[in-house]
Amino acid sequence: MFGRGQPIFILSEGTERMKGRDARKNDISAAKAIADTVRSTLGPKGMDKMLVDNLGDVVITNDGVTILNEIDIEHPAAKMIIEVAETQEDECGDGTTSAVILAGELLSKAEGLIDRNIHPAIISNGYRLASLKAYEIIEELKIPIEMDDIVLTNIATAAMTGKTVELDKEHLAEIALEAVKKIVDDEKESYQVDIDNIKILKKTGASVDESQLIDGIVLEKERLHEKMPKRIENAKIALLNYEFDVKKTEIDASIEITSTDQLQKFIDQEEKSIMKMVKILEEVGADILICQKDVNDLAQHYLAKAGITALKDVSKSDMKKLGKATEGKVVNNLKELSYEDLGHADLIHERKISDKNMIFIEGARNGKAVSILIRGGTEHIVDEIERVLEDGLKVLAVAIEDLTILPGGGAVEIELANRLREEAGKIRGREQIAFEAFAESFEIVPRTLAQNSGLDGIDVLMNLNTAHQKEGLKDHGIDIDTGTTKDMVEMGIIEPSRIKIQAIKSSTEVTNMILRIDDVIAAKGSSKKNEG
Ligand code: ADP
Ligand code: MG
Repeated sequence: MFGRGQPIFILSEGTERMKGRDARKNDISAAKAIADTVRSTLGPKGMDKMLVDNLGDVVITNDGVTILNEIDIEHPAAKMIIEVAETQEDECGDGTTSAVILAGELLSKAEGLIDRNIHPAIISNGYRLASLKAYEIIEELKIPIEMDDIVLTNIATAAMTGKTVELDKEHLAEIALEAVKKIVDDEKESYQVDIDNIKILKKTGASVDESQLIDGIVLEKERLHEKMPKRIENAKIALLNYEFDVKKTEIDASIEITSTDQLQKFIDQEEKSIMKMVKILEEVGADILICQKDVNDLAQHYLAKAGITALKDVSKSDMKKLGKATEGKVVNNLKELSYEDLGHADLIHERKISDKNMIFIEGARNGKAVSILIRGGTEHIVDEIERVLEDGLKVLAVAIEDLTILPGGGAVEIELANRLREEAGKIRGREQIAFEAFAESFEIVPRTLAQNSGLDGIDVLMNLNTAHQKEGLKDHGIDIDTGTTKDMVEMGIIEPSRIKIQAIKSSTEVTNMILRIDDVIAAKGSSKKNEG
């Protein structure tokens, strides 16, 4: 049918295709480039990155996931590495840089093995076996903790280490811990922490140490009318996610205005409808209306007259928080509102914070709601504090839910590298070589920590190995000031074990995924699609 030697085109013109070794090499290089980008930010002495987008907006950060999210990356394999950082961030709030660096190292080692003619499937299998063993080792290494303030403060501080807000991290760690303790749910067998119950607000114009924790929910809103009560005790709250207004269409359809007399009638009718709506609130016993949408101007007047405070344009996420905290139901039809739907709070009051009125909802029925007001000199500072604080909160949540930790400063990585190397001997076939490579990959973390602290990577690894192998000091990590080793648990440089487990999980997964690709078929112009 087809002429001999004639190529058969199954892909449309312009499709770019890369196969086998070339495809893999290209993917690995891209992934390694990403890891190199964030390497210098690892650890307490890591550097910051200044990112400038095409509009000239600047972000200064040390946060791995923020950096990777801000830079415009096209390469599909590079994007897969970024997903590692995102997963790490979502699951644990910390360890993003470590996870990406580990993935980069696993791929780099794999590249070397491919050059030695070891098939990617063998490498992938060796890595998988090694990762399973790594989880087992972590189970042996992890240390149980109690709900102890000092330990938890150390964990929060460690998560905030090396960020631009270094000087304020103690104060911020304290706030984060207080916040998490207020919302922890201890009714089930293990503690549950839902950090969605913590609302973060940002205000420039004061120093970072004036950031504070507020018991309850704070809304950047003010009463719609000055005659509305400013302070409500034992408040019953109506939550509406629909406009508090007359449905215009209902009236428009029936009246055609031709005279002033009719106009008056129309206005009267609108007014009547509004009064009826206010009446509903009065009858169910609401003291305050919190509305996600607009509140009609005339309605504001009648609400004030009825002694009902009202707020409008409250965000959807705040409505959700309010519903949860005050145990009220967010309704979308006022006519369906009943007493049972109302939320409860001990006190709602309006207060000024740096020239701006805010509404404080305190002593909510469910009690598990707090707000953190972040202060800082500039937008850049409050934004970075928000990122750092969110990480701290998430890490605390993970620590409290699991109540197990691991020593930081490269201690776990060295222990993993050594123990896995020993285990490699038990592996048959060529997988053994990949297993060993997996073990060695962990050294990238202490080596990078050392280099970023201005120390010699090889010396520091030697010191660590002496401590771990010769002296059995499995909690010893790098003392970044001297290059010697110290007990990280004693120094309070600790992390929830979930951070390490997740980092191994996602970096192994993405490495194996990239290793399995042997054909990249890109549609014409596909690299341009995401632009703009
Ligand atoms: P990541 O995004 O991976 O969390 P970080 O920049 O926060 O990156 O660095 C975390 C690493 O730094 C961890 O391995 C942690 O144990 C280590 N580390 C943090 N503080 C210290 C310290 N004071 N001394 C030594 N290592 C530290
Ligand atoms: Mg960190």
